[in-house]
Amino acid sequence: MAVWHDRLSAVPYNNMNLHTNQRTVARSVACTGVGVHSGKTATVTIKPAPVNHGIQFVRTDLMDSPGIAARFNMVVDTSLATVIGYNGFIISTIEHLMACFTGQGIDNALVELDNHEMPIMDGSGGPFAETIRSAGVKEQSGARCFFVVKEPIEIKSDGKFVGIYPDTTYKITYTIDYDHPLIGRQTCTVDVNDGTFETEIARARTFGFLEEYELMKHYGLAQGGSLDNVLVIDEDDVVNPGGLRFPDEFVRHKILDCIGDFSLLGMPILGHVVAKKSGHAFNHEFLKTFFDKKECWETQTIHNPESGNPGPKQLAI
Ligand SMILES: [Zn+2]
Repeated sequence: MAVWHDRLSAVPYNNMNLHTNQRTVARSVACTGVGVHSGKTATVTIKPAPVNHGIQFVRTDLMDSPGIAARFNMVVDTSLATVIGYNGFIISTIEHLMACFTGQGIDNALVELDNHEMPIMDGSGGPFAETIRSAGVKEQSGARCFFVVKEPIEIKSDGKFVGIYPDTTYKITYTIDYDHPLIGRQTCTVDVNDGTFETEIARARTFGFLEEYELMKHYGLAQGGSLDNVLVIDEDDVVNPGGLRFPDEFVRHKILDCIGDFSLLGMPILGHVVAKKSGHAFNHEFLKTFFDKKECWETQTIHNPESGNPGPKQLAI
């Protein structure tokens, strides 16, 4: 454990992209679009929030504007998207925006929504990332607290696998394997802190197979789905006229979803996530296991001499 602490203390100082102080958006910004499942138009407004606030969603269309923290223990459904809920109200399809908060290093924000489902925008996190970027980022005086992985944690079931391992940064390696000539087996590794989230991951779109898409439409699901916001694949190719944004756009989108799901731990992570054939439901299973296995991680602030925060400190949780 001492060795790991030495590594932790030595490395992050050299990583200019690892923010050690908390951050929020510099001003309020908004964007509007349709919900992919409901087809309903919704406006999402992202507002600055104080230190230790975290990410909180508020339903402004409901009486008394109830709020809910974006935490894994608030998840009520993972079948088609990640949905949080509390006391009878829900916020659906939060994962792409949540991934952008993590990818862009935003710890605190108040997210107002005037419907029950987040707008899908173009099916990726790109429009949210641009919206957050347009707001600007404000560094705050409080130190960030990290989940620091000390021992591996793994779960597996029916060919699906998720594990996390000690690392000095937040890294994700994701593998998908589809019996389809265009997709096949794709593996991608990203360092979420290295500043490439917006160019390499955020713009990867959600995807679905034409048969499933037509079936969902038939049963009244995916009411807002169109070629403008879903990458649709037929027997051997992409139906969307513009084609793919990346040759491996599929696995990149799964990484976007994974970052969004793991953001529901509520704090940044120093560890390497390895996932195979996972999805929202299995990611959520992993988060519950992670939180139960408290002997495998600890929470720490990290000293950055330039930030003025107080340095390595273990916090009780
Ligand atoms: Zn997604």
